[in-house]
Amino acid sequence: MTFVISGDHVDKLPPTEAEVAIVGRSNVGKSSLVNALSGRRKLAHVSNTPGRTRLLNLFRLDEGGSMMDLPGYGYAAAPKHMRDKWGAMIEGYLLEREGLEMVVVLVDGEIGPTKLDVQMLEWLRSHDLPHTVVATKHDKVKSSKRSKRKQELAEGCQLDVGDVVWVSAHKGVGIDRLRGLILRWLG
Ligand code: GDP
Repeated sequence: MTFVISGDHVDKLPPTEAEVAIVGRSNVGKSSLVNALSGRRKLAHVSNTPGRTRLLNLFRLDEGGSMMDLPGYGYAAAPKHMRDKWGAMIEGYLLEREGLEMVVVLVDGEIGPTKLDVQMLEWLRSHDLPHTVVATKHDKVKSSKRSKRKQELAEGCQLDVGDVVWVSAHKGVGIDRLRGLILRWLG
């Protein structure tokens, strides 16, 4: 996976044939996951570079196709006009990007879907945008509690339990499965 470019508007990005976007609230584990998927430390560094965390970050996959790392939503502390700007940037991208095949919505597997996550899912559904929920931090939940938690995660997202992919960037759980899904979505 190679970093291509950052932009503050969908119009400034080069076109791609097929793209998967990753979105989630800040601290959900997005850069750790991008890092684990790529198998390279440098990339997470790229998307964690100050300034870039609030931009649309485009990566190209070695296997073909692209991945969009969207800025984390829900910086509650940010001034309203800045939150509005991020919202408009993310919405503009999701509604206008050609070749967008799948939106991966990250949900914290330890704490479950937040109100903002649910809002994001409802918004994607209202616009008929293909999306998949990926729960993070699998290793943070005790193995005896995982089955119940997975059910809660699915219910909170109004999905069937089999539709939630659960990963751990730290332990590598589910990473190969998610990589396989991404390649399938990219055709
Ligand atoms: P981002 O803000 O969504 O990019 O989130 P980060 O990748 O920076 O992760 C936020 C916090 O969650 C950091 O303290 C990470 O170490 C932690 N984290 C991310 N993924 C995992 C995971 O799979 N397991 C555990 N235990 N912690 C994780």
